[in-house]
Order: sequence, then C-alpha cells, then structure tokens
Amino acid sequence: MGDPWQWLDEARADVRARGLVRRLDPSEGLLDLASNDYLGLARHPSVVAGAIAATERFGAGSTGSRLVTGTTTLHLDLEDTLAARCGAESALVFSSGYLANLGAVTTLAGPGTLMVSDAANHASLVDACRLSRAEVRVVGHGDVAAVDAALAGWTGRAVVVTDAVFSVDGTLAPLVALHEVVRRHGALLVVDEAHGLGVLGPSGAGACSLLGLDGEPDIVRTATLSKSLGSQGGVVLGPVQLRDHLIDTARAFVFDTGLAPAAVGAALAALDLVTDERIGQLSAVGSALAAELGVEPTPGAVVRVPVGDPFRAAEARDRCRAQGVRVGCFRPPSVPVDEACLRVTARADLTADEVSRAASVVRGSLRPPAG
Ligand code: PMP
Repeated sequence: MGDPWQWLDEARADVRARGLVRRLDPSEGLLDLASNDYLGLARHPSVVAGAIAATERFGAGSTGSRLVTGTTTLHLDLEDTLAARCGAESALVFSSGYLANLGAVTTLAGPGTLMVSDAANHASLVDACRLSRAEVRVVGHGDVAAVDAALAGWTGRAVVVTDAVFSVDGTLAPLVALHEVVRRHGALLVVDEAHGLGVLGPSGAGACSLLGLDGEPDIVRTATLSKSLGSQGGVVLGPVQLRDHLIDTARAFVFDTGLAPAAVGAALAALDLVTDERIGQLSAVGSALAAELGVEPTPGAVVRVPVGDPFRAAEARDRCRAQGVRVGCFRPPSVPVDEACLRVTARADLTADEVSRAASVVRGSLRPPAG
C-alpha cells in the first residue's frame, strides 16, 4: 500500500527549499509596522464600542446569508454611509474584501468577456479573474499602453482590473490614464481601493476620489473594511443596477453568511473617525518612515524595502521581531521570484520616536552579520 501523504512530504520539502515556509506568530507586545490598521482605529475606544453595541443589539453572528436573515438595519446604514463617503451611487457589503472582489469580477465578466489584469494585482483579483472563466490577459505592472493594446480589436465585453494602491510596493495605479483607455474602448474599470479607502482622497474617499474619478459610470470600486477602518468586511461601490445584480447573482454574496454585526458597527464607528487630520498624520508618518529607511516615498501607508532573496527577507523579519518590531515579509507568490521584500506599514498614531526606532531596527536587520 502506498503512503497517501507522501506527496505532502515532497511538497513541504519543496516549500522549505525555496525559503517559503510560513509561521503563524502572535504579534502581541511588538511595535506594529506590519498590520493594515493604517489609522490606528482597530483598538480605538469608539470603534470597539461600536462593535460591542452592535453585538448587544444584533447578536454575535449575522445568522444567515444577507439574503435571508443576515441583513440588519446596520448593514444598510453602513452601505449608505460608504456610498455617500465615496461618492458612489450605491454600495453592497460583503463579508471580506476578498469576497467583494470575487463577487464584483465574476458578476462583471464571464466566458466571452476579456479581462485585462495588472501583473501586480492582489491575489483576490487574480483568483476572481480565474473564477470568472473570462479570457484573461495579464499586462505589465502599470503598463497603460499594454492595456490599450489588449483592448484594441476586442469586440465583446471587456473589463480592466487594478489595485488602486498596490499592496506590495505601495505605488498608485495610473488610474486617470487607465480610465481614458477604458472609456475609449467602451470597457469597464474595476479598481480595488483596499489600500486607498481611508488613506487617500477627501475624507479618505480613496484614490479614485483623489483623482476626480468618483461617480464615473464606467468605474466599479471595491474595498476592504479591514485596513484603514480597523474592522472586517468588504464592499462593492457602483451603480444601483450593479448592486441589484450582485444581490441576485454574486455567489460570493448569496452563498456566504452576512458580515457579523460587530464588524458592521465597528466599521460605521471608524468611518466617523476617518478625518483629513488623521490622514495627514498617516501621510507624515509614511514620509518620515520612507526617509529614515532611505526608500522611495509612496502615496499611501505601504513602504517597501527591497531584499530579493526570500531566505534573507525572512531572516531580516525575524531579526526585527527579536528586537521587538513586527514588519511584513513578502515572498512568492505575493511577489515574483527574487523580489522578496520587507513591507513596513505606516500608522497614523506612531510617534516620531517609534518611527526612528523601527527604522533603525529594520536597517540593522538588513546588514550582513559581523565577522
Ligand atoms: N485587495 C487587496 C489589494 C488587499 O490587499 C486585500 C487584503 N490583503 C484584499 C483585497 C482582501 O481583503 P480582505 O482581507 O478584507 O479579504
């Protein structure tokens, strides 16, 4: 009889040989420069109180699909608030940003649709493209001419997908140029504002709002509530007909239990705290961090420190941890082979001392060991 787990031993050996072993380490007690809690709201007393009040009123779980018992008045309030904040006609809340992307993309594209996807897009958009069964063309990172070329000559429906702020390198997508190309070809643009909401634009309305693209009829935005809002959940922002169609057909919405009331209450409370002042603090911390680390400043909260080799990146991450600083470590498949990096995230409530200490620990972690 063969060993039914032999393949797993081989697969694990391969993961080890490529320096891609992952661990689940609690972060308590460490200075956090790895989370996505960009505005420091996850533990804000009003946000925690919002979660508690929602739990007390509506229960710990949402008890069913949004279509059955999983929609509370709070879910609808959150959708109205998000749509108003982002200047969108409507919003539909999903139980995560990942599922919002799956729902939006698989609803907008199917067999016979062309999907054009940036090579650096988040895994949830990549998976959404695959699941849609559309014809997918992956174009170089930020390459608007390649998007134009991919759309040229395509006569059916076409959708271009991009992160607004790329999750690994923190750069802003060329949204204005992409929109111009999309409009010229009669296509749609899906923009994932996961790292833009609460970080860019007036009152944190996102990168599209920053660039005057909110309300454009051919742009659909998605976002997560788990980063700057310090909660959980996802949202699709777009025309009312799209919201109606998502409710009727998006499997990631229909067959998933609605977002827990606590997360809805927390997100609503957090939206009140997303002010231009907090965003200004985040931006100042981000600039200071990039300057102290000697890397390119980025428009949002994500600062990338290139390393290259995945073993070296993981070692640097562990050295930071040993010094009490938690930083992110991105290795394949999050980044291409040999482009491993440390990902250091700014937070609005970091003090100047914390920024300096963290930057010095990160710099030290990358120096070759003496001797
Ligand atoms: N899109 C992007 C660009 C992200 O960075 C993330 C989170 N890592 C997601 C989508 C998924 O959001 P969530 O964690 O809420 O599922």
